[in-house]
Amino acid sequence: MLHRLFVAAGLALSIAVITAGCQASTAAPTAQDAKQFLDEVDTTLNRLALDASRAGWVAQNFITVDTEAMDARATQAFSDAASRWAKQAVRFDNVDVPADQRRQLNLLKVSLVLATPSDPKESEELTNLVSSMRGVYGKGKWCPDPAKTDSCKNIDDITKLLASSRNEKEIRAAWEGWHTISPPIKKDYQRFAELSNKGAKELGFADTGAMWRAKYDMAPDAFTKELDRLWDQVRPLYLQLHAYVRMKLHQKYGDVVPQKGPLPAHLLGNIWAQDWSNVYDLVAPANADAGFSLTDILKRRKTSAIDMVKAGERFYSSIGLAPLPQTFWERSLFLRPKDREVVCHASAWDIDSVNDVRIKMCIDQTAEDFSTIHHELGHNYYQRAYNTLPMIFRDSANDGFHEAIGDTIALSVTPEYLVKIGLLDKAPDASRDIGLLLSRALEKVAFLPFGLLIDQWRWKVFSGEITPAQYNQAWWDLRLKYQGVAPPSARGDEFFDPGAKYHVPDNTPYTRYFLADILQFQFHRALAKTAGCTTPLHRCSIYESKQAGQRLNNMLSMGLSKPWPDALAAVTDSNEMDASAILDYFAPLQAWLQEQTKGQPVGW
Ligand SMILES: [Zn+2]
Repeated sequence: MLHRLFVAAGLALSIAVITAGCQASTAAPTAQDAKQFLDEVDTTLNRLALDASRAGWVAQNFITVDTEAMDARATQAFSDAASRWAKQAVRFDNVDVPADQRRQLNLLKVSLVLATPSDPKESEELTNLVSSMRGVYGKGKWCPDPAKTDSCKNIDDITKLLASSRNEKEIRAAWEGWHTISPPIKKDYQRFAELSNKGAKELGFADTGAMWRAKYDMAPDAFTKELDRLWDQVRPLYLQLHAYVRMKLHQKYGDVVPQKGPLPAHLLGNIWAQDWSNVYDLVAPANADAGFSLTDILKRRKTSAIDMVKAGERFYSSIGLAPLPQTFWERSLFLRPKDREVVCHASAWDIDSVNDVRIKMCIDQTAEDFSTIHHELGHNYYQRAYNTLPMIFRDSANDGFHEAIGDTIALSVTPEYLVKIGLLDKAPDASRDIGLLLSRALEKVAFLPFGLLIDQWRWKVFSGEITPAQYNQAWWDLRLKYQGVAPPSARGDEFFDPGAKYHVPDNTPYTRYFLADILQFQFHRALAKTAGCTTPLHRCSIYESKQAGQRLNNMLSMGLSKPWPDALAAVTDSNEMDASAILDYFAPLQAWLQEQTKGQPVGW
């Protein structure tokens, strides 16, 4: 789920302001200059963020050629100036300034995802490469019958097909078909890596990957090791899940799915094999019925979209957070409009960086949307909690935190919680838990190795460890190493399979999703403990716990003003990320999986 965070997207300053600042002094900059620079940044950033948020909101709520152009222009104002600003901040490297100003200056330097080279020609070439790669991906279609254009399938069609089809031949054709969109991007990607590295070097980073890793308050290489450590913690659980799913899919598909060795990448219900929820029906335990269906309950009661959001707000109020402002209810979008095209993908917004928070969703009466509401509101409460800090600090402690908060709260949407708010009469007994846990593991545990490997591949590409000739081979080596999946057919060098995943041509870093997946369980465990929960972790809800809410708010209100380990400690009493909370949460499932796969091979 997206949220619009312009500080994360790239800081910006109008060029005029920077030029004026430079002309003011050619002598060595002073602490006073640094202060003035940051004050100007704060003011200008505030204004540009407001412009861009409004333009973005209108563009997504009224999709027209004009609103798209206005949105693009406002966003461009950000990325243009962000580059200049990152470079300007370097001027103050040797100036003695207070710690919070030093942190702001450092954040400016690491705020970029893409650093353009100072050569204007190269800068333009790089910008064009990125929009061209985005365009190729966005327009990507697979046409099973090139003579018939109505046979063509875009990513939405392919996604639906992979989720629902159980015909191996049909799935394989769609999988191979989608992967034909990306070979044209390969050359562009190579040049893009060269030029973006050049820009990163000008800012003092070894390469673009090192620039991305520099955002995490630790040395880039130490951060890489930290991720490996977290992965090693959860890997045994992943291996059990992998072995169990392989066994069940072998029963369904026969030898296309080997009894040992890697899983075929196309049969997991998702084009990237990053979320296996869609094959739940193929792997479900005999006693799979959760005992109730929230979707059915919402439909039967004719619960309105507003009432679903009100229930979400009541959750946050119950832990002591102030109610949402009146403008939230007036300005949010809750239902798909009948009269116009909108972007329905759920998102949370912070228009004025103070109090004008909103969500944009096309809510259906489903359990999934009920949970998504709790997730999106998590972004809004985070945004409001840090709204008095300097603009540069109005962001989450690291980019994994923002996504993790909403998901943490969604983990508290338990049967017991639904009973408390009157949606369910009685919580099902523990015998029903395995189905619930397995379905959640197919989403959250199955995702972890994928969440890790995308940037493993890109970091190695940026550093030169993976050469263009090795792009595809290295991609599949990593997918085998981490996910234990293999392609359904030979993938030679003529392919560029990483490019068939949105975030690669779009140049969006991916490690945040891995971190969010780890952090949400760690937060949930710590807050459940604070709330005094004594049941198994997956049955804990922090609903009505003012103490848990206070701890959570302590962290949220820190925003980005302190290194993330400090923010983490505010909730968990530890300044280290710890994936053992996932193991705790899924402990009953892991024991069950072990039982199910007794005598079966584990690993690949
Ligand atoms: Zn989100």
